Amino acid sequence: MKIPLLDLGSQLAPLREEIIAAVTCVIDSTTYIQGPEVVSLEKEIAEYCGVNNATGVSSGTDALLVALMAIKIGAGDRVLTTPYSFFATMGVILRCGALPVFADIDPVSFNIDPVAMREVLEADTDRTIKAVIPVHLYGQCADMDAILAIAQEYDIAVIEDAAQAIGAEYPDSKGEWHKSGSMGLAGCYSFFPSKNLGGIGDGGMVVSIDSEFGESLKMLRNHGAKPKYFHAIIGGNFRLDPIQATVLRIKLKHLEKWHHARRENAATYNRLFAKTSLLDEKRVKTPVAIYEKASNESEFDRNHHIYNQYVITVENRDALIEFLRSKEIGCEIYYPLCLHEQKCLEGLMEKPRLPRAERAARSTIALPIYPELTTVMQEYVVEQIVAFYQL
Ligand SMILES: *Cc1c(COP(=O)(O)O)cnc(C)c1O
Repeated sequence: MKIPLLDLGSQLAPLREEIIAAVTCVIDSTTYIQGPEVVSLEKEIAEYCGVNNATGVSSGTDALLVALMAIKIGAGDRVLTTPYSFFATMGVILRCGALPVFADIDPVSFNIDPVAMREVLEADTDRTIKAVIPVHLYGQCADMDAILAIAQEYDIAVIEDAAQAIGAEYPDSKGEWHKSGSMGLAGCYSFFPSKNLGGIGDGGMVVSIDSEFGESLKMLRNHGAKPKYFHAIIGGNFRLDPIQATVLRIKLKHLEKWHHARRENAATYNRLFAKTSLLDEKRVKTPVAIYEKASNESEFDRNHHIYNQYVITVENRDALIEFLRSKEIGCEIYYPLCLHEQKCLEGLMEKPRLPRAERAARSTIALPIYPELTTVMQEYVVEQIVAFYQL
């Protein structure tokens, strides 16, 4: 049985006519830059995330970049982040002329560990660290209460990399739930096609509860102009395309349903793995949803994780991947190399030791989890993993 890691065709099929009609409308409108579709999407995303402003931008990477530009990160500054993320999280720091500094991860959630974060800040005696970028990896929020408290103590900005986590939720100490991206100064989303809310090309968004910050983002994405042709600050062309906005508005209406289906698939995998001996033998570790909602919600909606990826920790990872691929099961390593191990950092900084992130990079594997995946397909995936360890 051939099972892809992601099947965008099955998501497109029921929406195809509606999407083509909406894209045709944008084409016929001849408004090809900014315009009402972008403004409407910004309003809808702001509302969905519980914030008062949102700024559509050209990608998730540019969302992070403009957020750092808005707080004037530059040469001589350092930005604290996790070593276990997609390259963009670190790339934007370097592009601002600043340097990254890393705190190791929590091995259960794979997100930045607040204890390690505090140690790094304590060691920063000359106070060059100006901001922290926690990443809500795989669709589960980092421990934001602890992160926000430490950031406040050290007076640094919090820019959430929520590229994989639009709609994921986090309970604060009072038990109130917050959407990813709404807790720091800025929350950055990506609409890359493989994200839970994906466009038909690149796109991104920055949300914030700070209107003044939101205003500077709107200038920065358009060359820093206000009014047109008057540039008090230096920005760039980071605009979101209205064709993407119109497609994303259609897909946003289905987002909660898709999150739900992914949660259901995650629960199915958990159940199927629990029926094998792989967990007891410590050959496979299934992902943990850290926070739990009140038990009066249904089993799936109690969950807060949006499962952009379903990532298991396994023994003999590289051989398992090769085996699954030979069985036409799509799987991927997110990420085979930590950020601090990337060659582009050579000569820029001393390589730190981050053993928990390094261990994760050597032992994790993402299985297909997309909403349209069937139980029969999932049974086959788990059967094949069992077969591999019986070889
Ligand atoms: C996808 C992703 C990005 C970048 O988003 P693009 O839209 O591809 O530029 C940044 N950070 C993380 C964690 C991501 O997964």
